[in-house]
Amino acid sequence: METLENKMRIGILGGGQLAMMMIQMSAKHNIDFIVVDPSDNPPASKYAQCIKSDYNDKDSLDRLINECDIVTIDFENVPSEALKYLENKISVYPSSYAVEICQDRLKEKKIFNKHNIPTTEFHTVNSISDLSLAISILGTDSILKSRRLGYDGKNQITINKYSAEEAWLLSGEAEAILEKKVDFKTELSIIGVCPKSSETIFYPLVENFHRDGILNLSIAPYNNTKLQKLAESYHNKITKELNYTGVLVIEFFLDKSGSLIANEMAPRVHNSGHWTNEGANISQFEAHVMAIADINIKNISINGNSAMLNIISKMPENILINNNYKLYDYGKSERLNRKLGHITVNNNDKKDLMKDVEKISKSVF
Ligand code: AMP
Repeated sequence: METLENKMRIGILGGGQLAMMMIQMSAKHNIDFIVVDPSDNPPASKYAQCIKSDYNDKDSLDRLINECDIVTIDFENVPSEALKYLENKISVYPSSYAVEICQDRLKEKKIFNKHNIPTTEFHTVNSISDLSLAISILGTDSILKSRRLGYDGKNQITINKYSAEEAWLLSGEAEAILEKKVDFKTELSIIGVCPKSSETIFYPLVENFHRDGILNLSIAPYNNTKLQKLAESYHNKITKELNYTGVLVIEFFLDKSGSLIANEMAPRVHNSGHWTNEGANISQFEAHVMAIADINIKNISINGNSAMLNIISKMPENILINNNYKLYDYGKSERLNRKLGHITVNNNDKKDLMKDVEKISKSVF
């Protein structure tokens, strides 16, 4: 029997909904968690001890070193110095190296290109003259994206709305890339779980629909054997290069010619995998924890068809709920473009699933 002394303990940098679900979904593994987060009462604080501090606070990091067996993250913008400090003393998954690459769109694109993984056409922008040149090459149907701190459409400026000078000022003159817009058919993501000492296990491709750059709706599985294999091969190349343990997600555009174009990756569990809580035998959250804790994952299988609808900015007053639906409320205060919760739907029949999605959309969006 496990005693308190030999119970594994995992530290998580970031106490948002991803940390919350890692803790909730791995309850059966008898693992303790300690969360570090600078905000008051982050979602995960209801389920684990939470240290309120900055991520690079030495005392908090030393506590994780002394009290935990491993450390992971719930968002990729933790300072890599904090991860490097931890790495000298304790196992950290993902590594500071992997996180540094995923924090920077340019490094991310370079690693995709190094492995012949197609990306959007892009140019590096460090000045107004770089931007003017990049626009003259890529055209105005392009997006200026800051290299760092950009996710959910944050720090992105659509060029055809502004002059180069306006866009550069609006961007805060931060190091950026100019990216050509893709006229895509749809967007897909591949979620792979890399155990410490065995082959990566994949969930089926997920189809994703965004609004204003923010994920709105995910539907799984997206059945296409050829694309599934291609996405898996791309994922394997990246995780081999990064010597990766845990869940890593790559987001793609599927262009009109049927090619997968890598957009970005996340070195963590991902919003497009929330459906796995009800739609798979092992959720992405539990799988991540099992992978980093070196707990054997025998197989991952899915149940029928699933969808996930994000609740953003405002919690709806009347949400339709029945046995096919599950509502997650992250307990956050309402704010424009903030992810407040989500609803998962599971149905064996795809047509019925889509009817459910339509009904819920009416009450949520
Ligand atoms: P990102 O923060 O790069 O993941 O962008 C968020 C969303 O904005 C994407 O999922 C797309 O829906 C849209 N988007 C971003 N970049 C492009 C692009 N180059 N072409 C078309 N749509 C894009």
